[in-house]
Amino acid sequence: MAARAREAGAVLRRVTGASVEENVPLAGLTSWRTGGEARYLITVNTPGSLIDSVRALHDTGVPLLVLGNGSNVLVADSGFSGAVMRLKNQMATVEVDGHAIAVGAGALLGAAVSKALRSSLSGLEFAVGIPGTVGGAVMTNAGTFAGSIAASLVSVEAVDRSGGILTVEEFEDVYRTALLADGLIVAAARFDLHPEDSASVRSRMDEVRSRREGSQPQGTATAGSVFKNPPGEAAGRLLDQCGLKGASVGGAAVSDVHANFIINNGTATSADIKALIDLMAREVDDAFGVRLEPEVRLIGFKES
Ligand SMILES: Cc1cc2nc3c(=O)[nH]c(=O)nc-3n(C[C@H](O)[C@H](O)[C@H](O)COP(=O)(O)OP(=O)(O)OC[C@H]3O[C@@H](n4cnc5c(N)ncnc54)[C@H](O)[C@@H]3O)c2cc1C
Repeated sequence: MAARAREAGAVLRRVTGASVEENVPLAGLTSWRTGGEARYLITVNTPGSLIDSVRALHDTGVPLLVLGNGSNVLVADSGFSGAVMRLKNQMATVEVDGHAIAVGAGALLGAAVSKALRSSLSGLEFAVGIPGTVGGAVMTNAGTFAGSIAASLVSVEAVDRSGGILTVEEFEDVYRTALLADGLIVAAARFDLHPEDSASVRSRMDEVRSRREGSQPQGTATAGSVFKNPPGEAAGRLLDQCGLKGASVGGAAVSDVHANFIINNGTATSADIKALIDLMAREVDDAFGVRLEPEVRLIGFKES
């Protein structure tokens, strides 16, 4: 692996439009602020450098992880021994095209939401406050009580692990489940919206914002909901009924505001968070016989 990684590093450094760093701590790139180092961190700035980098990694057999805004991941304290890729600049543009918005996968979902409001376009109001990128949103089918990303998505430009380009136009809208096959890299997406006066769009956005702010911890290091809601139930309610609010392992604690959120109090390791996740799942299973499924993606853990 070390020889392959060195070879990949040498090839990646020759890719124009990308920058390559070695042994980069991932804690600063995740919303939980934990996790070890990536062997390589590649910042890809153009569509061409995306394809060239993916091909280089494929040819050398070095594992690739595409990271968006790191707001739905738990990276192990041992880090990720392959290459972590982030999409920036030309891969993070937001453009209005008639009633559609075309976005690079590295753009923040919030940038698309703001552009829609400024352009008097409706259809993305549900996404107010989700802190991820468009790529991350597509790969998690991000959503709120007001809707999910699949509803307004018309097409996704994707790249496969050997650098092939494809366009996907059909999506199965399954709750918090990736809209593309595992392994595909989201390069860009197009949302079909409809014109509406900006006061109405703004008022729906305000409603989503105020409902979130009243029910979720604000301004803390979290990754949003830890578990998916089981069918017909709210994971937070089950966790609350188990008396888990405030439960802690090391520097990780279950939020007092919402029992499905884990907060890093400043000293948590990923091992603390993982142990707390396991404890929460066990308590709910013991009390209700319900097996909660993590919504957050575990990276670099043995069983992930
Ligand atoms: C305070 C807070 C509130 C939140 N509220 C919500 C909410 O209301 N609704 C909701 O759905 N989520 C919510 N989340 C979770 C998170 O914001 C979403 O899941 C978001 O869509 C993740 O996007 P990201 O860019 O951060 O993805 P990351 O966390 O970086 O990655 C998530 C997954 O997507 C993959 N991925 C990312 N980009 C790409 C790409 N371009 N191509 C292929 N794979 C990619 C990663 O490999 C990983 O498997 C919240 C998180 C926080 C911290």
